Amino acid sequence: NQWFENSFKAFACNKAVTFFRNGEMETQLTYDQLHNDINHFSNFLSAKGLKKGDRVILLLEKSVINVVACVALLKIGAVVVPLNSGFKKNELNYLLKDSKAAMVLAGLDKKELIEEIYPCAIFLQIPTHLPYEDLEFFRSCPQSFLRPKLSQSDPGLIIYTSGTTGNPKGAVLSHGNLVCDAGNVISIWDITQKDVVCHALPLFHVHGLCFALFTALLSGSHVMMLDSFTPETVQQRLSSKDPEDTCSIFMAVPAMYTRLLDFVEGKKVEKKKNDFSHMRLWTSGSAPLLEKEFDRITRICGKNPVEREGMSETGMNFSNPLNGRKKPGSIGLPLPGVTVRIVNPETCEDVTSGEVGEIWLKSLSITKGYWEKPVETADTFQDGWFKTGDLGKKDKDGYYYLTDRIKHLIITGGENVSAKEVETVINQLEGVKEAAVVGIPDEKWGEKVVALVEKYPGVELSESKIKAVCKEQLHNLKCPKKIMFSDHIPKNTMGKVLKEKVKQFFYSY
Ligand code: ATP
Ligand code: MG
Repeated sequence: NQWFENSFKAFACNKAVTFFRNGEMETQLTYDQLHNDINHFSNFLSAKGLKKGDRVILLLEKSVINVVACVALLKIGAVVVPLNSGFKKNELNYLLKDSKAAMVLAGLDKKELIEEIYPCAIFLQIPTHLPYEDLEFFRSCPQSFLRPKLSQSDPGLIIYTSGTTGNPKGAVLSHGNLVCDAGNVISIWDITQKDVVCHALPLFHVHGLCFALFTALLSGSHVMMLDSFTPETVQQRLSSKDPEDTCSIFMAVPAMYTRLLDFVEGKKVEKKKNDFSHMRLWTSGSAPLLEKEFDRITRICGKNPVEREGMSETGMNFSNPLNGRKKPGSIGLPLPGVTVRIVNPETCEDVTSGEVGEIWLKSLSITKGYWEKPVETADTFQDGWFKTGDLGKKDKDGYYYLTDRIKHLIITGGENVSAKEVETVINQLEGVKEAAVVGIPDEKWGEKVVALVEKYPGVELSESKIKAVCKEQLHNLKCPKKIMFSDHIPKNTMGKVLKEKVKQFFYSY
């Protein structure tokens, strides 16, 4: 019940959040100030008639008020539903109706749209474009706040999955789930009040909200919050040597690393500006980190990145060790309290050690189910185990690897082909930035393997050359029957490859 309260008290005078807009510092708050503002805001929300258990959509650009609103909602026992404020009408239409939210907090530009598609909710307009200090609307509410009684099993957050394999589903995370997950991450990465976290992730997925923001606020770290990711502003932040605000941790998705490293390598930034020796932890997750990017981070940032795995439904499940071997291509070891099985999805029996199967999990940070989706919930759980839908294996040292998603397996000529295996072969070719492999319908084979390839600019690389290399290294069934080139592989905001969009390239061909 007191999970945020305790940390805010313990770290009262420390800096909590410094917010940067377009690379310029805009606001700085101590834990004490943040705590007081959260109380003002909690009273403001209660006065609007919100009750424990009400769902509230946060459709806000990244901002300090977004953080304040989120914690205030948790505090009053409402269920926070954070959404991407860049979503368009169709996307919002589905999510707003699915969540059955009682209230929507959104920026000025959303008023008309929300009133059109979701008029039943209370609409609160929040001017996120203004400097935080100028927002007065909630500060006239009292500063002391009496919390309602909350239990571990009360829902705190509904996080919609990324929609990589179908419509997004709302994973309901309880206060108990959130505390367990944040505590796990803080302990394995040893996050303390000495840390300064560079935060360039969005606040509507577990990565940016739970793993980066909640862990920082609960451990008394100082969050350097950037309004959005750009390579320029992140490089500037990470290389700043201001004695009090020198960053120590950066958490990102692989696509952010690629853009950051391209920028650092490509631009003639003074060498000393790219000295990141003060950084103690570079983490990567949400999507696979290519081995060549692991090597590039190691070379340019001076340390091995720590790759980890997590899901909206579960929080973080695996991480490479902070102190210990970080294996490229591996998601690492299970977090404390996470029990893992690797199961043959057809027989539901454990596979022989080292073989590929579906990853099943048990942990206190795992959701009890999806919001109003009893069928999907029933399909996802078996005998108390959460079935991730991800295929993976374990090596002899106990490190885990994701090999593919079950839904992305390609079935060609009756055989299962892992897109990732084919992608790995193509990614090794010089000049290839990234490959995305999918199956498209084929009369003879059921599906056939095809690949979309992004090259580095100015590189000469032909379809026949890639096909020849695949032929050398892969069984004929796995070899792409068609290769197309594109300036970019379609990805969502978390840098996950949108395989349905990749297929479109081949349908229109
Ligand atoms: P949906 O469930 O709607 O199809 P999604 O699974 O992409 O979308 P999230 O919950 O945001 O939605 O993402 C969880 C998934 O992200 C995991 O199941 C896994 O496939 C992938 N993932 C997370 N971390 C990693 C990683 N380090 N390497 C590879 N994949 C990862
Ligand atoms: Mg998923």
